Amino acid sequence: MDKTGTKIAMKTPLVEMDGDEMTRVIWRMIKEDLLLPYIDLRTEYYDLGLPHRDETDDQVTADSAEAAKKYGVAVKCATITPNDARVKEYGLKKMYKSPNGTIRAALDGTVFRAPILVKGIEPYVRSWKKPITLARHAYGDIYRNTELRVPGPGRAELVFTGADGHEVRQPVFDFAEAGVIQGMHNRDSSIESFARACFRYAISVREDLWFSTKDTISKIYDGRFRDVFQSLYEREYREEMDRIGTKYFYTLIDDAVARVIRSEGGFVWALKNYDGDVMSDMMAAAFGSLAMMTSILVSPDGVYEYEAAHGTVQRHYYKYQKGEPTSTNSVATIYAWTGALRKRGELDAIPELIRFADALDAAVLETIESGRMTGDLASISTIPDAKVLGTEEFILAVRDTLERKL
Ligand code: NAP
Ligand code: MG
Repeated sequence: MDKTGTKIAMKTPLVEMDGDEMTRVIWRMIKEDLLLPYIDLRTEYYDLGLPHRDETDDQVTADSAEAAKKYGVAVKCATITPNDARVKEYGLKKMYKSPNGTIRAALDGTVFRAPILVKGIEPYVRSWKKPITLARHAYGDIYRNTELRVPGPGRAELVFTGADGHEVRQPVFDFAEAGVIQGMHNRDSSIESFARACFRYAISVREDLWFSTKDTISKIYDGRFRDVFQSLYEREYREEMDRIGTKYFYTLIDDAVARVIRSEGGFVWALKNYDGDVMSDMMAAAFGSLAMMTSILVSPDGVYEYEAAHGTVQRHYYKYQKGEPTSTNSVATIYAWTGALRKRGELDAIPELIRFADALDAAVLETIESGRMTGDLASISTIPDAKVLGTEEFILAVRDTLERKL
């Protein structure tokens, strides 16, 4: 609401992807307690909750991805990725694929994970003052490999047969005993999409972009990644980055790891698939809590989808269903909403919407800094006598702080 008491108007709808379990409960509370009183919220709603995915044979997930492409900004609740237990629990027609995987494939997107920093929840690395956002390439390498157990002595070769029948053949190793081999690949177009998403994202948050591989050892494979990033930077992004005072920086992964630990943070770190898989879990733990990590999917043509990095918090949901008290952290889900609203505000030139998103983010941090937080944070907080609030109690405390700010 602005000073005259009218709600903030929106122009283009957000694509709203609802989800499952405890995060679905939180989703409704955030809308009712923190958004609807202040914003004339316009969303195109897609119910990605597992029962509705089953009813629609998962068509709803594909439809929601198409809507994200159409409107450009989406906000997503955590969703269940079905396994055997879930197929039984929900009586599913089949074991559907991960919605995040489906949406990522449809958008050809890259996932950026960024921690939310707040006083009282200190990163394990003392020098980190600002968030480090991690971008993981989500295609190929060992995740699409072909492996072979070598049974005994013999020759392993790498063979490529061109569409014209031309053959290139290279020895891998002459085995005198048993062992293992693996073949993996990546595609120029996928590497380029990844690089574009990274440059776009870094520019949108006005931070430096770091990229690191092991190109001293893997001269052709990792070298290709390095070259694609470098040439895109020179051709398309350098000018803009110079103008906003940011830069692209390539270094060997060993060197990057050492620099990251000594840094203050405040940059985007792009990594190949495996490096990103490992490093993103390390960074989430090092920043303090998975419940304080946001996740943003960015497509190479600039579609943004915001969500929390954590799952549906199943264990809390079962307690909630039994009517027991819960203390589930809603911070990353609130930040998913504010991220999406802020982006919508930027694209549609609605400064009040941007101001609202900033105020709500600040209200979340101030509430925690005042010593009121959910149980997961209280257990790691350096704030003395932190008070543990229930799930909705925390959201209402944020609302109180927000009221005082607006
Ligand atoms: P999870 O939902 O992330 O929860 C794992 C544990 O971390 C929780 O049991 C809880 O610990 C703690 N935790 C996570 N988020 C929290 C929060 N907001 N507040 C307080 N504590 C939090 O992972 P999961 O239990 O392995 O997976 C549950 C479901 O989520 C699965 O069906 C999976 O498919 C799905 N999932 C979805 C996404 C997504 O949509 N992006 C991502 C990951 C997983 P305590 O129980 O000790 O309190
Ligand atoms: Mg992992």
